[in-house]
Amino acid sequence: MDTYDYLVVGAGLFGATFAWHAKQQGKRVLVIDKRTHAGGNVYCRSVEGINVHAYGAHIFHTNDTPIWEFVHRFARFNRYTNAPVANYKGELYNLPFNMNTFYQLWKVTTPAAAREIIQKQIESLHIEEPTNLEEQALKLVGTDIYEKLIKGYTEKQWGCKATELPAFIIKRLPVRFTFDNNYFNDRYQGIPEGGYNRIIDGLLEGVDVRLNTNYFHDRDAFNRIAKKIVYTGAMDEFYDYRFGELEYRSLRFEEEILPTDNYQGNAVVNYTEASVPYTRIIEHKHFEFGTQPVTVITREYPEAWRKGSEPYYPINNTLNNNRFKQYQTLAQQETHILFGGRLAEYRYYDMHQVIGSAMVMARKELEFLK
Ligand code: FAD
Ligand code: UDP
Repeated sequence: MDTYDYLVVGAGLFGATFAWHAKQQGKRVLVIDKRTHAGGNVYCRSVEGINVHAYGAHIFHTNDTPIWEFVHRFARFNRYTNAPVANYKGELYNLPFNMNTFYQLWKVTTPAAAREIIQKQIESLHIEEPTNLEEQALKLVGTDIYEKLIKGYTEKQWGCKATELPAFIIKRLPVRFTFDNNYFNDRYQGIPEGGYNRIIDGLLEGVDVRLNTNYFHDRDAFNRIAKKIVYTGAMDEFYDYRFGELEYRSLRFEEEILPTDNYQGNAVVNYTEASVPYTRIIEHKHFEFGTQPVTVITREYPEAWRKGSEPYYPINNTLNNNRFKQYQTLAQQETHILFGGRLAEYRYYDMHQVIGSAMVMARKELEFLK
């Protein structure tokens, strides 16, 4: 019954990257996905000639030259640099936290003056080793920035107190004492010209793909169809939730076409006060410097997750991480099943990390780089 060498469950970046490598090695691969399209969360939908990031804004960035070169096999990248603006009660601030932000907050014009203000605020708090996001944020940038640009956004994004969140989440954001609004520190950054589907189409070229196909709807048959399975879905679902659910934060996207060529002048505007129900508004055309006469915007509303709703962000608190370790112990005993990607690894992974992780798995599994 082994028609294929590999069955890949999930046509997201992890599954597609693994499938591409396996195909290069002459393996027979079938990729299935329960959605109506491939690409997982990087999928783009064309609306009025604009590539709409259907599952939230996606900006590619990496420090890793082989990964950057790898994605260039499939698409050219433009020079887009993410520089979101924060709107707090109608006032605008540059992100990430940099000299422009400090000037907007305190009218300071030198790094020394900005450092002095932040240092004074931090010292008055006496935080030794931060144990949660709030303490970590306060220790990084002090009270003013925390209150205006972090607390409200974070608590609505995650649906809990910042004191209940792990510190690592806020370390994603750079703090710098130069006038530099680049949201990322990585050497490479851009948006694939023509959208992310180009990359997915390239990765899956020549590979058998079945959409609208849920592994769990015919698990026994799928287990027989290939010698090995690469599973990129949720880990708890794979083991029928026997140790309990791994929790996520979900999102709701509200999309609007507006009869203007430029609604907000930037691809990403964050709304950092607690009373605005959405976290950000994305104006998709700006990712590709679009000149269309109309525009498409998406408001991103964080939502509670329950079994069955779309799992966007893993909630990596102690309870969930311990649960995940229990699942991982089972997964490590599997001989025919490999697990990878943001759902199966229950990790807050960026795209380049998912690609890197799939490359490592492919290399190990296929042994093509000896
Ligand atoms: P996914 O893309 O989730 O793919 C998994 C696939 O498996 C899905 O298509 C799903 O339908 C399928 N599947 C699951 N279960 C089954 C089943 N039982 N049967 C069949 N198919 C199944 N990263 C960046 O680098 N830059 C960004 O700017 C960025 N922005 C983001 C914004 C948001 C709102 C979110 C949520 C993520 C963002 N990311 C960003 C992260 C990025 O989306 C992920 O790193 C990447 O898409 C994960 O790929 P994946 O293949 O692991 O998972
Ligand atoms: N964050 C914030 N204010 C902002 C943007 C981000 O406090 O204006 C915090 C928030 O806790 C968020 C984290 O920083 O969850 C990481 O932000 P990032 O933009 O990397 O999140 P993503 O794009 O993955 O949703």
